[in-house]
Amino acid sequence: MLNIILMGPPGAGKGTHAVWIAKDFNIPHISTGDMFREAMSSGSELGNKIKDVINAGGLVSDDLTCALVKERLSKPDCANGYLLDGFPRTIPQAEAFAKMGDELGIGANLVLNISCPDEVLISRIAGRRVCPHCGASFNVNTAKPKVEGICDECGTALIQRKDDNEASFKVRLENYYKSTAPLLDFYQEKGILATFDGNVDAASLKVELTTLLKVR
Ligand code: AMP
Repeated sequence: MLNIILMGPPGAGKGTHAVWIAKDFNIPHISTGDMFREAMSSGSELGNKIKDVINAGGLVSDDLTCALVKERLSKPDCANGYLLDGFPRTIPQAEAFAKMGDELGIGANLVLNISCPDEVLISRIAGRRVCPHCGASFNVNTAKPKVEGICDECGTALIQRKDDNEASFKVRLENYYKSTAPLLDFYQEKGILATFDGNVDAASLKVELTTLLKVR
């Protein structure tokens, strides 16, 4: 069973690789970032509460995030594997997640970590355009859509995320090194961490990830 956590700094390629992994291995893709963006665009109470924090590149509180993930992981489609993208992002979240994994009998058994140098991340984030409908990700320099500004997958007009600006990116990267990177040691100690070089083209990394996932 594939109970996967996908980790890496902003712009490493988590979203891009999450989409095909979920499809090829038939497991739900659970992205806390997508869940929060959906809440913001629906104008729900949760969305209004978290909007300013997210747009500035900050982290949503551990309590709110963990409650949302627990509810999602309790759904029956997670009983046969899942792909968590963007969670856990802090040590308290990792501890809460270990507890819910035990309770639900679905603890993580593989952490895929995509590493990438900071200067590559910043240029990827500046050029990133995403589909607000299906979540597909493109880049105006390196991964252009077939028709400029339009999603290849579903034909929706692409947008630039509000937090994909230089100031918010700086905060996100700082948060990554301060709060999220320490989780790598946490999962290394558990013996479930596999690290990949994300500074390659997406097709090459897909081959490497597939090789590992197929033998699991
Ligand atoms: P992402 O799509 O993973 O880049 O997430 C976008 C934003 O959502 C982040 O910059 C945070 O503001 C928020 N977010 C996503 N996941 C988490 C999490 N696990 N904990 C706290 N905030 C999160």
